[in-house]
Amino acid sequence: MNKQNWLRWTEWAIGIAVPMILFLTFQGINIWPVLIVGAALTALVIAVRMRGGDKGGAGGFGGLKQRRATNKSAIDNIRFEQIGGHERAKRELVEALDFLVKPEQIRQFGIRPLKGILLAGPPGTGKTLMAKAAAHYADAVFVGSSGSEFVEMYVGVGAGRIRDLFKEARQLALKQKKENAVIFIDEIDVIGGKREGGQQKEYDQTLNQLLTEMDGLYGDSSPRILVMAATNRKEMLDSALLRPGRFDRHIEVDLPDKKGRLHIIQLHAQNKPLAADVDLNRIAEETFSFSGAQLESVLNEAAIYAMRAEAKQITMEHMSQAIDKVMLGEKTDREANHEERRRVAIHELGHALVAEAVRPGSVSQVALSPRGKALGYVRHHSQQERYLYTKPYLEEQIMIALGGAVAEEMFYGNRSTGSQGDFDQSLNIVDTMINAGLTELGIVRLKNVTPDALSDATKAIMVELTDRTHTMLETQRTVFMSCLDVLIREENLTGEHFRCLIRDKKHLPV
Ligand code: ATP
Repeated sequence: MNKQNWLRWTEWAIGIAVPMILFLTFQGINIWPVLIVGAALTALVIAVRMRGGDKGGAGGFGGLKQRRATNKSAIDNIRFEQIGGHERAKRELVEALDFLVKPEQIRQFGIRPLKGILLAGPPGTGKTLMAKAAAHYADAVFVGSSGSEFVEMYVGVGAGRIRDLFKEARQLALKQKKENAVIFIDEIDVIGGKREGGQQKEYDQTLNQLLTEMDGLYGDSSPRILVMAATNRKEMLDSALLRPGRFDRHIEVDLPDKKGRLHIIQLHAQNKPLAADVDLNRIAEETFSFSGAQLESVLNEAAIYAMRAEAKQITMEHMSQAIDKVMLGEKTDREANHEERRRVAIHELGHALVAEAVRPGSVSQVALSPRGKALGYVRHHSQQERYLYTKPYLEEQIMIALGGAVAEEMFYGNRSTGSQGDFDQSLNIVDTMINAGLTELGIVRLKNVTPDALSDATKAIMVELTDRTHTMLETQRTVFMSCLDVLIREENLTGEHFRCLIRDKKHLPV
């Protein structure tokens, strides 16, 4: 049992035992035998847990020791060079760390010491790695925790744990004779959410305690403590936490761009035997919108595929399977019947043909094998990173999504439930267009548009784009049929193979 569970059980035990003893006393029952047995049992449990702790076991009072040991070995290995991409974020962080690294200069210029750095960004982008690398860079001890560790139902427990965390950092720094300590709180939003009156008192107290501890940090105190926190939801945080003098340095740790992805892939490929055909650059292209954690997983899964296949090296085929697995989930055993397989093939080819028509060279795989919840899928790769989307681009995106349903209609005269996800995706894009003022509604606030007007505008866009997709695919019936036979036979078409089939027929619309 870890420290958190142990404390939770202790709270429960106290919560039940006290009312029971009072009840028995009022009933006139002799409670001494119960008290003696209870005390003996408690002493026994504590003794056992203390021994576990001495041995460095994972549980109980030894948990603290264990955490220190883990933290130390973890930061020994993490340096900024081992974090792929995020060059700007790393630079900003290094600059912010001057407070710990160059205290003399900071004092000379009368600069207010930095107390808190907030790392904000999607899950798995390397925020924890950044905090560990920062601790290593500043030759500091690292004490990590998570917002959820401070959440308890009893008022004051979370606040006590915050106090313990700061105490632990100070003690650890003294013990290791370090001048600096970095306290890292992951998921800070759990305790630092906006206080709007409806919140529990316990949350308020925990947050107040954190603010108090931070207010008590001074540049000339020894050890110097820097609090780093991470969140995926910066907009949820209470303004008291973000004001100057607290977490006033915000560093965005976003999803990596192509260059960043390549760097992360290269780092995680270092200890893996790669075959000559592996093109890391192409993998970086095909993993658009993957986080660092997902990229690490791609490399790991590819190695597992290679090992299972008893191959000596990891090939591009293993990599490709791994990307599909991370994106869509493991292959499933769902056996579609012949008719279903044909429909799925038509559906996927619909997506792929529209994609090749509007963005030539963008399809990297068309597959008919069930993965996760999908019975088939098309993998696209972005040829260019984009941060701004034009109306034509978004419309093309919707047409690619609608391609599956339109193709089913062309060949069967009806649609299936397989298009549900595509419609969701299309409608989300329409919402984006409306919010960005890219529709006939003009520049509007969604809350001021009546449901009828919204529904009419959405319907008009969807109908028009469905018609355009239909016209586009109609011109490709012949190429459709020849690709269909090959896809059903081979189950998987690489992007190159698919483009060869199309080129042979020369039926792509202009
Ligand atoms: P969360 O918000 O979910 O807590 P996080 O942003 O803190 O996630 P980390 O825990 O730092 O993410 O990263 C998880 C794993 O993903 C790392 O152990 C590492 O293997 C890999 N990883 C993530 N980002 C990078 C990166 N930029 N470079 C190298 N590896 C990375």
